[in-house]
Amino acid sequence: MPVTLGERIRRQIEGDGPISVADYMALCLCDPLQGYYTTATPFGRTGDFITAPEISQIFGELIGVWCVAMWRNIGAPKKFNLVEMGPGRGTLMADLLRAAAIDKGFGEAGEVRLIEISEQLRQQQRQLLAASNIKVSWADSLDDIDDVPSIFIGNEFLDALPFHQYVKSGEMWLERMVGLVDGEPAFVTGSGIADPALMPADHDSAEMGTVFEISPAREAIAASITQHIEQHGGAALLIDYGHISSGFGDTFQAVEAHHYGNSLINPGKADLTSHVDFDALKRVAGLNGKVKTATLTQGKFLLEMGLLERAGLLGQGKSGLVQNDLHEVVERLAGRYAMGELFKVMMIARKECKLEGSVTT
Ligand code: SAH
Repeated sequence: MPVTLGERIRRQIEGDGPISVADYMALCLCDPLQGYYTTATPFGRTGDFITAPEISQIFGELIGVWCVAMWRNIGAPKKFNLVEMGPGRGTLMADLLRAAAIDKGFGEAGEVRLIEISEQLRQQQRQLLAASNIKVSWADSLDDIDDVPSIFIGNEFLDALPFHQYVKSGEMWLERMVGLVDGEPAFVTGSGIADPALMPADHDSAEMGTVFEISPAREAIAASITQHIEQHGGAALLIDYGHISSGFGDTFQAVEAHHYGNSLINPGKADLTSHVDFDALKRVAGLNGKVKTATLTQGKFLLEMGLLERAGLLGQGKSGLVQNDLHEVVERLAGRYAMGELFKVMMIARKECKLEGSVTT
């Protein structure tokens, strides 16, 4: 029997000492042999969780409408990239492209670039998108995207990227690490200190034990996208669970078979994530003063993009059963107690570009 990922992590900690939450997460999710994203089939009813595109085709369709509107907004360039980060099964892209076919020029000018770490998921994406009338290819990272205007999208991609945790300990914020206590993985306090400049102003008055999370990996993505838009034009739409204003709290979570579990048990078997701090991403995007951002709840975004109208159209003349299903879909995607409030949508575009909808923050 091969050594399990858990055992390998335990040996690494035994030999080299505790590892950061970020390193632990990267090992669990991306280990080439036993990492969660390299081995598991995470999505759908039989998987570990259901994402918005897997709930209903309407989600991807409305994003398709947004993409076409943004493409026109940036001057309908004759050549552009449509980049999706972490496309999962490819469902969002398939629904998006079907809706975007309302504008022939969009499909003729665009080339789809998918950034996906899992070979298994790349294959599923290839199958699902084989019939699309737009060229689709894969890129290893944002660095591989051509120097042309690009529209970037990512749904539940950022939450999967590693993050660090810091715990208020006395006067300081010390890094939370994964170590061993009585031979078992456990959270321990390390010696790394959080940079106060990256924390909310009231961090001094936070209670002992309060947790603050920072994700340089997510910020690096926001920086790359921003730089690309500044230099070559384009726009971005990033959707994830998270908060509009930076705040405190431990949001590290493990999800397996639709249940929350212990993030230190069964490494590689559960999806590990944390809430995305959109405020931190907004600060990164705003550094050069050339782009603007707007962050709003998923519910508001979808309603502005025509969720109710689209659901109404799909339900027209259909049975009560179908209409009930559509009603449920609307509630799940946009309802206050479902995904509508917890999930946020962040748009990035050049200053002169009109961002869809009424939000102008
Ligand atoms: N967007 C899809 C899937 C979300 S799950 C949906 O909404 O259904 C996260 C996705 O990001 C998966 O496809 C996963 O394999 C991919 N992923 C995670 N970490 C990644 C990384 N570092 N680089 C590229 N893709 C990654």
